[in-house]
Parts: sequence; structure tokens; C-alpha cells
Amino acid sequence: KGAQKPKPQGPQKVAGIDRVIAVASGKGGVGKSTVSANLACALAAEGRRVGLLDADVYGPSQPRMLGVSGKPASPDGKTILPLRNYGVTMMSIGLMTNEREAVVWRGPMLMGALQQMMNQVQWGALDVLIVDLPPGTGDVAMTLAQKYVLDGAVVVSTPQDVALLDARKGIDMFAKLGTPIFGLIENMSTHICSNCGHEEHIFGHGGVAKEAQEMRVPLLAEIPLHLDIRTASDGGAPIVVSKPESPQAQAFRDLARKL
Ligand code: ADP
Repeated sequence: KGAQKPKPQGPQKVAGIDRVIAVASGKGGVGKSTVSANLACALAAEGRRVGLLDADVYGPSQPRMLGVSGKPASPDGKTILPLRNYGVTMMSIGLMTNEREAVVWRGPMLMGALQQMMNQVQWGALDVLIVDLPPGTGDVAMTLAQKYVLDGAVVVSTPQDVALLDARKGIDMFAKLGTPIFGLIENMSTHICSNCGHEEHIFGHGGVAKEAQEMRVPLLAEIPLHLDIRTASDGGAPIVVSKPESPQAQAFRDLARKL
């Protein structure tokens, strides 16, 4: 009998977590965190057990969007207790650092932090864990896909060409990593005036739909640009929670039903 071969280090499943869905974007500021927060709240409102891992090291915004603050406790010194609001169990890299502190981390530290948040946080039993990734195709996305079983990724983009080009890179990356792509999400699709309801295509129209078709990935949602979406997130209660009956919230609820 030969010596036992070490087990191959393929992607692992985290105990208790049924599905992991990554929310990515090619660049920052396109609404990836807004989509993650509303998606998580919409899934929770449907009765699913939802976790939200804010892994956006460069701009962790989930504590503010979900209206939670404070340092997460670690009663045993080994595991971390997540926070919870609107039925969503949440952990953010932003809760492990000072909100005003710029996070200047190198690759290995990022990977360590990601693994800590996946494995040491007491997520409990979850139907789905949403991971809000940093923008771009960096170490965090790669580590996540290589170390953990990712059920799929969604890529958020605005209709602008530059954002679309970056979105394409994101889709290519997941394809190379073998992560299924659930689809593209167009955010800030049309502007809806909060005064009169007039619709205007500030960033152009149809670009994401065309891109999705070319890349052969589904277009999962078209989320309008609406003042209420921004104020809701800034106020710590995503639109899905604060104005659940509005058409803006409906767009996120429809998205949740597809995932
Ligand atoms: P990212 O995570 O891609 O950096 P955010 O989700 O933080 O982007 O969004 C950037 C800013 O745009 C935030 O102030 C957010 O409230 C706002 N925003 C995002 N999507 C919309 C939308 N559909 N309508 C209005 N404001 C939005």
C-alpha cells in the first residue's frame, strides 16, 4: 500500500449553506451592492433563509444599506456571530474594519479575510448565501470560485458601453473559473422621475440586452434609476423593505424569483 495521497483541494461546500450566489460587476458604482441588498431582502421576504456576505473590501456598504452597525461578537474567540436585519443574516468586511478606514490589503490578507467570513461566521442553516464581491476581476472573486462551490454568478452593469466592456470581462472570468453565469442585470436602466414619473434613458437603452444576447447569457432584470432606490439604501432600509409595493421594489422581487 502506498502512502495516502493528499485530498485534492477542489472547491468546498460550507456546512449548512445550500447555495452560494455571487454578485459581481466589472467596475464600481454600477449598483452591485444595491442589487445584493435588495435581492437578499426580497429572498428573505419570500421566506427563504438568506445570508449576505459583503466581501467588497474597497467599499463595504452593506452595514449602511441594511441599517446595522457595531462590531460582530465572538464569544468563543473562534467563531464570529453575524448580524441580522430584515430577515437577512449579514457579515461584512466593513464590520471588521473602521468605516472611514481605507482598506489597503494585499492578496493573501484578502483571501484570509474571505475564508474567515465563509468558514468562521456562524451562518446557521441557509438556503442561499449572496456574496457581494468587490468590483472587477480580482483575487476575492477568484479565491471564492476556487475554494468554494459557487452555484452561480450574476453580473450587474449599467447601460453605458464602458461598464458593459467591464461586465464582459467579469463574465469571461467566471466562465474560465467554471462558475455558471445566471445572467446579467441592467441597473440604472431608465430614469424614472420621482416627481412626474417621466421615463428617460440617461445611459442609453438596449445595450445590456444586446450584450446579453451576444454573450448568450440571460438578461435577468432591468432595474430603473429612481431616487427612492438611493434614499432607501442610504436610509438603511432597502426599497424592497421600505416601499415593497412600488414598481422599483417589484423589479427586485421579480429578480429574486428567478434565482
Ligand atoms: P456598487 O456596489 O456597484 O459600487 P452601489 O450599489 O453602492 O454600487 O451604488 C452606487 C450608488 O448609486 C449608491 O448611492 C446607490 O444608492 C445608487 N444607486 C444604485 N442603483 C440605483 C438605482 N437603480 N437608482 C438610484 N440610485 C441607485
